[in-house]
Amino acid sequence: MNRADRSHYGKEIAVGAVVALALFLAWKWLSLMPVLFLLSSGALIYFLVEKQGFGSSSPGERANDSNFTFDEIGGQEVAKQELKEALDFMVQSQAARELGIRALKGILLCGLPGTGKTLLAKAAATYTDSVFLSCAGSDFIEVYAGVGASRVRSLFKKARDQAKKENKTGAIVFIDEMDVLGAQRGGNRGHMEYEQTLNALLVEMDGLKDDHPVRLLVIGATNRPDLLDPALLRPGRFDRQIQVDLPDREGRKHILAIHTRNKPMADDVDLDVLAQETIGFSGAQLESVANEAAILTLRAQEQTINLERMKESIEKVLLGASRDRRALDEELWRVAVHETAHAMVSEWEQKGSVVRLTISPRGRALGYLRQVPTEERILDTRNDLLGGIRVALAGLIAEELILGQGSTGAQQDLRVASDLARRLLLSGLSHLGPIDTAELPETVRFQEIQKILAAETALIRERLAAVRAQLEKTARHLRERESLSGQDFRALMEQCA
Ligand code: ADP
Ligand code: MG
Ligand code: ZN
Repeated sequence: MNRADRSHYGKEIAVGAVVALALFLAWKWLSLMPVLFLLSSGALIYFLVEKQGFGSSSPGERANDSNFTFDEIGGQEVAKQELKEALDFMVQSQAARELGIRALKGILLCGLPGTGKTLLAKAAATYTDSVFLSCAGSDFIEVYAGVGASRVRSLFKKARDQAKKENKTGAIVFIDEMDVLGAQRGGNRGHMEYEQTLNALLVEMDGLKDDHPVRLLVIGATNRPDLLDPALLRPGRFDRQIQVDLPDREGRKHILAIHTRNKPMADDVDLDVLAQETIGFSGAQLESVANEAAILTLRAQEQTINLERMKESIEKVLLGASRDRRALDEELWRVAVHETAHAMVSEWEQKGSVVRLTISPRGRALGYLRQVPTEERILDTRNDLLGGIRVALAGLIAEELILGQGSTGAQQDLRVASDLARRLLLSGLSHLGPIDTAELPETVRFQEIQKILAAETALIRERLAAVRAQLEKTARHLRERESLSGQDFRALMEQCA
């Protein structure tokens, strides 16, 4: 399972081999041949254990570091907060039970590799004073029927036994790569084994009881929640999903601080600058930046890690990441223009409506604008609908205006805009007036929606063109800072006007 355990075995075997050798030599002072034989077979065993993971992993091995806390995770403030809130029910289980709150059985952490999902799960175990067992979805996939399912059952049993042994009242089972184990059943993989394994997991989760002496919580991690079998996401199973995003600039600075804390850093190292240069890096990549820089420093026979080495190391990690820097820069500028336009139009339509905007990739979207929620509103006026259409169209129009052409990043926006236009039409708020929608031919409906969108596009294009300089300036600030609160954004708009 993890390398630490494996090398531990390796050490024991090595020690064993040395002792055996010593005894052997003491017994009979022989020629060199058997010594060489012993050494080489020892080396062979060591190689097998170390490199092949021979005889190591059965799912559900214990992690060694049992007091890893949320403080050692950089950025991820939102994810940490959401996770802690969910866990508080587990910590205050007595109070929760008295209020009749259904016990939380599963939490799904969704996000790109290396963003800290495993770390969050470990910290969750410390926070709730639980034992921590971890495994990966692929551990359960075997050629032999029934093996996966029985591994699931033994994993849950092991978690309870372990907790009892350590006198703890909670256990957290962490399943990495949930999508391998929990992909939709009846897919064309034609493999009963997957289904049996998934069913076993569902049965175990359904069997988790509030009043069991050991409270068990399953934390799953995946980058593709959309692939999961819907049965997994039903209430009482993984009914809480927490998004674990790539870190923003502040987050990256925090992560860099964590991973340079125990290293001798030179005075010229400015984490702010480094955070700025590492947009799009995951926590794991930032950890490698710090580590690589230390290696380069050692190689150069220097005593402290300086800015130069850190920058060299960033380039090195970037090379490995196969993302070309110029393409990334262009893309970020495009996203900044796009999101700024959404936000500006949103402010025009309704002052104070922007809550936050960011160009750090979030989930599947590149950029992100959060507006004051309007969900509670049941009725939308004509102006509300038109305003929504304008905000949605603004991103693409600004891309065309500033960058000469649009991109595929606006697909979702166009869907939103045409949905709103359809509602406008069907509610009798278009210039066709009140109409019987049943009587409306499909082609007329299509044309009418198109007309509405075309009119709003023309309007927004004209308005954005009139403030082009302000738009560009504000977008440059967003590109620089990556993420802005609504308040900061409004101040910037004023300042750039
Ligand atoms: P995931 O499970 O999301 O793939 P991990 O939690 O396994 O990512 O992270 C891998 C490594 O990357 C960690 O051991 C840590 O060194 C580093 N890392 C990732 N995210 C963070 C973070 N938010 N703060 C500090 N270190 C991180
Ligand atoms: Mg991981
Ligand atoms: Zn958009």
